[in-house]
Amino acid sequence: MTARNAVRDDFPVLRREFDGQSISYLDNAATTLKPRPVIRAITEYYETNGANIHRGKHRLSEEASDAYEGARVVIARHLGAAANEVVLLRNTTEALNLVAGGLDLPPDARVVGCLDAHHSQLLPWRRVGQLELTRLDEHGRLDRDHFRTLLRGRPHVVALTHCSNVTGVVHPVAELVAEIRAACDAVIVLDAAQSLPHQRIDVQELDVDFMAFSMHKMLGPTGVGVLFGRSERLARLRPASVGGGMVDWVDLDGSVDRRIPYRFEAGTPAIASIIGSAAAIRYLEAQDTPERHRHAQELGAALIGGAVARPGVRLIGPPDSTDRIALVSLRLDDSIPTGEVARLLSDSYGYMVRSGHMCAQPLVSGMAGGEVLRVAAYLYNDVSEIEGFYQALDELVSWIAPTAAMEGKLA
Ligand code: PMP
Repeated sequence: MTARNAVRDDFPVLRREFDGQSISYLDNAATTLKPRPVIRAITEYYETNGANIHRGKHRLSEEASDAYEGARVVIARHLGAAANEVVLLRNTTEALNLVAGGLDLPPDARVVGCLDAHHSQLLPWRRVGQLELTRLDEHGRLDRDHFRTLLRGRPHVVALTHCSNVTGVVHPVAELVAEIRAACDAVIVLDAAQSLPHQRIDVQELDVDFMAFSMHKMLGPTGVGVLFGRSERLARLRPASVGGGMVDWVDLDGSVDRRIPYRFEAGTPAIASIIGSAAAIRYLEAQDTPERHRHAQELGAALIGGAVARPGVRLIGPPDSTDRIALVSLRLDDSIPTGEVARLLSDSYGYMVRSGHMCAQPLVSGMAGGEVLRVAAYLYNDVSEIEGFYQALDELVSWIAPTAAMEGKLA
């Protein structure tokens, strides 16, 4: 048995069949599957503990609090951060909203973003300031000259997307941060939802002020988002929610907030899922090997190769595999209903892929002119699945498309 097969065995969902046919999960940019150690950690908490944290002196509560705080330490170490710089929230969206709503910005704050921002980055900043988006080239790479021009406007915030969930492009964040620091004193906020699942990030080295990501996109449970914030930045951030668990003292006249990061964690958190997140980080770290990176490169090359070999398919993103994750977005002929293709790929062939605007509508409308089909691979996928996906797509398209529109277009 190969090492990769051993990885597949850790993911029980991969054993599922629909109508006797095995399934292929290629929707990893939406969320990834969960390996057994993550599922076990969650089950174990419910089977052996189940108590609330930080609220009692009894033994079960103390045990649960230790496991919860232990998970924070595991996540912090993974990022090169201190534990008090890690805020445990529900998802990337909540983390970005907390930063946008919690900074002390003037009413007309200038914010520079990227045209490939996910709605979770776009909408919170648009709500609090004047958002200007850096243009992209035809393949989705940042227009660096335009970025520099926007920096000359001395923005209050620069909200960067590390990796686009549409083009798969990983932007050169270290270089961008150096340019920002040289040009102005903007707060730098990084959306790492699509990059951290594929690469290690050291937040000290990268020198960002805030970074947001979701555990569910990196083998962890749903319901856990992480906000890293430099301690001096977090200390000045206004909490979005107030209530139990985030205060040291409440009397009839007021209250005193707890120290960071607890003041941002009002209410009972997703205890089991946060404990499961530590298991996910440990699992990912064990997979951080040269073989795994080679495998990811092969998956990416197969995805791109399949797209560029098909004249009837337009690749939304660079036609090479430099600086990108194993993800492609494909635009089919205008006459083909993309959502219907995704449904048939699943129901007739067992391929789970995504269709639509990918919560990045300005980008998808601009680059693709309509909905796309997104195929995103992860460590348990195999090159043969990607080849099978393209064969199924060819068959489907030749069957669905009006003969006139498709003649001579598909390989
Ligand atoms: N940013 C990017 C780049 C994403 O791909 C996603 C998820 N599609 C998000 C933010 C939002 O993540 P979540 O839904 O977990 O809040």
